[in-house]
Amino acid sequence: MSAPGPIPELRLPQEHLLGIQGLSPADISTILDLSDHYVELNRQADKKTATLRGRTQINLFFEPSTRTQSSFELAGKRLGADVVNMSVKSSSIKKGETLLDTAMTLNAMHPDLLVVRHGSSGAVNLLAQKVNCSVINAGDGRHEHPTQALLDALTIRRRKGRIEGLKVAICGDVAHSRVARSNILLLNTMGAEVRVVAPPTLTPPGIERMGVTVHHNMKDGLKDVDIVMMLRLQLERMQGAFIPSTREFYHMFGLDYDKLSVAQPDALIMHPGPMNRGVEIDSAVADDIHRSAILEQVEMGVAVRMAVLDLLTRNLSDAETAGVA
Ligand code: ASP
Repeated sequence: MSAPGPIPELRLPQEHLLGIQGLSPADISTILDLSDHYVELNRQADKKTATLRGRTQINLFFEPSTRTQSSFELAGKRLGADVVNMSVKSSSIKKGETLLDTAMTLNAMHPDLLVVRHGSSGAVNLLAQKVNCSVINAGDGRHEHPTQALLDALTIRRRKGRIEGLKVAICGDVAHSRVARSNILLLNTMGAEVRVVAPPTLTPPGIERMGVTVHHNMKDGLKDVDIVMMLRLQLERMQGAFIPSTREFYHMFGLDYDKLSVAQPDALIMHPGPMNRGVEIDSAVADDIHRSAILEQVEMGVAVRMAVLDLLTRNLSDAETAGVA
């Protein structure tokens, strides 16, 4: 494996990464270009750099996470940062401390980067206004999950060579999904054609205003698409009955080879995880080594998070230098 070249001299204007909303096509390309560099680094035996040496990264997770938290942790460590993980179970939040008290307490420890996941939409934006470090949204309620959309875009760009002009179907529980929202924003910004495919009960009203076409039938929605993005049925966010049963949902909206047959023959299958096998996706399809990019998405996640941590820290360094001068 060849060693990655010198780290590209790229800059991102933002101080925080709170969402895809507000990122320009150039900003997105900057993050993806630097991510490509980190994919190469992560495939080396020695994956460690000193890029973030001396920096402190706190991962503050108010909601459970497997992939995102471990991916941010690895990303920070590979860049040489000191990484602290705080999850709700082990913190004073259980003892009644508010979100902002917790943030201010952590802020007093002088972190450089705060990675936050919270169950309420907008909580991460609010927190970013109160602290003086860079904040990264690792998922807030149904609002946004920007690094997921970026890792999905990296996976697509590396597999298909482009994003512009591709037909992408985002299928399943769109109503409860921050992954869907961030992906719609990113894919539209980069010039893809986006469709959402969901039962009426799981289609957010007015979603067409985000620039997507809506389908309530998988075979209509998947016709000729290049990318099939499945979403997890988010039962924990559902109050009341949105679907008759998971069995019925699988029958109508679960991705199997029959429904996939109308997509392009080389259509890529994606899922952000965690997967409900046999509910939104058939196991054989999920594990199809020729069609499924699900594990590749996990690999791309570490690289994208390294790129984001690196780019936001470059801005901190620029500001510190300017302050000294
Ligand atoms: N892991 C993603 C999220 O945190 C998707 C999911 O949970 O279904 O939003």
